[in-house]
Amino acid sequence: MKKILIANRGEIALRVMRTCKEMGIKTVAVFSEADRMSPHVHYADEAVCIGPAPSNQSYLLGNKIIEVAKSLGVDGIHPGYGFLSENADFSQAVADAGLIFIGPRPHAIRVMGSKLAAKEAAFKYNIPLVPGTKEAISSVTEAKIIAAGIGYPILIKASAGGGGKGMRIVESEADFEEQMDRAVSEATNAFGDGSVFIEKYVSSPRHIEIQVLADAHGNVIHLFERECSVQRRHQKVIEEAPSVVLTPELRDAMGKCACDVARSCDYLGAGTCEFIFDEQNNFYFLEMNTRLQVEHPVTELITGVDLVRQQILIARGLPLTLKQEDLKINGHAIQLRVYAEDPTNNFLPSIGNLFTYRAPKGVGIRVDDGYEEGMDIPIYYDPMIAKLITYGKDRTEALARMLRAIDEYEIDGPSTTLSFGRFAFRHEAFVSGNFDTHFVKKHFSPELIEQGSEEEAKIAAMLVAHLLENRLKKPVLQQTNSTVISRGSKWKNRAK
Ligand code: ADP
Ligand code: ADP
Ligand code: MG
Repeated sequence: MKKILIANRGEIALRVMRTCKEMGIKTVAVFSEADRMSPHVHYADEAVCIGPAPSNQSYLLGNKIIEVAKSLGVDGIHPGYGFLSENADFSQAVADAGLIFIGPRPHAIRVMGSKLAAKEAAFKYNIPLVPGTKEAISSVTEAKIIAAGIGYPILIKASAGGGGKGMRIVESEADFEEQMDRAVSEATNAFGDGSVFIEKYVSSPRHIEIQVLADAHGNVIHLFERECSVQRRHQKVIEEAPSVVLTPELRDAMGKCACDVARSCDYLGAGTCEFIFDEQNNFYFLEMNTRLQVEHPVTELITGVDLVRQQILIARGLPLTLKQEDLKINGHAIQLRVYAEDPTNNFLPSIGNLFTYRAPKGVGIRVDDGYEEGMDIPIYYDPMIAKLITYGKDRTEALARMLRAIDEYEIDGPSTTLSFGRFAFRHEAFVSGNFDTHFVKKHFSPELIEQGSEEEAKIAAMLVAHLLENRLKKPVLQQTNSTVISRGSKWKNRAK
């Protein structure tokens, strides 16, 4: 492969291009009219505008992207995550055009794209599954009998679901029909497929997932786990590797299951098997994501493996040179997704202009971002600004670096999840490792962030008063003055 087109935008497009550059591979960016000034467009060797801002007129136009690839002599297409990455027809169309899709074959995408088909495939390999229905609900009466058998609360889930959408908790039989109607209509709107099924609602669950790599020669390995229990709207916001709760035995057992799930669909490339982990240390397979995951950097930091490089080598047809027995966990990595969202307002998107944007630097810090100071965060796409990842010899060191990095991060304009991160990484539950997917619901409330910033505002006021006092006494030193001004912008960022 000499030239790769990246069918994506923002941080993940840049992330993929960086590895391509290291491998001596030329890159082609595609972009929408809203992304003309984006770093991923400047970074690429060639860039082509493929349409207006809405993704269904640009980043989702598979055929147009394939045309661009053919006209520029591209050999392979990397889909990143989101957009066309889990679209089996796109994977097929890329192959039909004589190009290489850097990802799994259409069959695996199709099977794992349906949570029901995925469970059926995993069941044949004796993978533990969450108790529930094996088929889509066709009769409400029957479904209620099954739900009563499992015991409330239960979860109604969209088979085609993703990104935390199409999921409804049902507390008791009286709510069943209403919640089911909602789940069906949400699933129909979001995924064009209203099939839903029932799962037992695991109480106090942790989300633990396993990274796998499978080559075209039958080799399948896993690169340990990522814990992604800190979520809002069933969507991850903090991830780490390794998980504080896994013993080597559990890690090994889950790893073997994940490799079997990959075998069950004849997987190719990098993929992730997601599990739910309960208080009794039972784990149950949830689904497989047939793409590079948002949180893949934490795995890269603890294993030293560049997952994008592995994806490209596998797509070229090369056998894996990594052996399971050679892989080891070194140190600890934590990721905070820096979203343009307001944690004090239900994590609702808070987009706008990045008046100030300065990423943290220094030892143990990796920032994967897709914006620069002065840019607007468009309303058309996922509002993630950056991923802040820190690494240390152990969890304590990674956490200390995370807090320093959040402190150094300067963002003015949109509200961001940095303030939530500062809260979470200092919280006793997170620090001790005693948390589950209800961390936000159990421990977080907007006042906790506002309290923090009130204290900081008090300190700021004190500093200013002190400065003014000094100013009256003697001529002000230029340096002191400018220090205070630059700190001021940071306090503004911390307010939300
Ligand atoms: P990850 O498991 O990689 O953390 P997320 O659930 O956070 O994944 O989603 C990653 C990206 O993929 C987001 O941009 C999300 O909107 C998108 N995404 C996930 N699942 C789907 C789906 N079924 N359909 C469309 N987009 C999806
Ligand atoms: P998606 O395709 O939207 O990512 P998942 O099946 O991976 O859907 O579930 C997303 C999140 O929802 C999980 O990480 C977990 O927090 C929660 N969840 C899913 N299934 C269950 C369950 N059976 N019991 C409790 N929580 C669940
Ligand atoms: Mg999931």
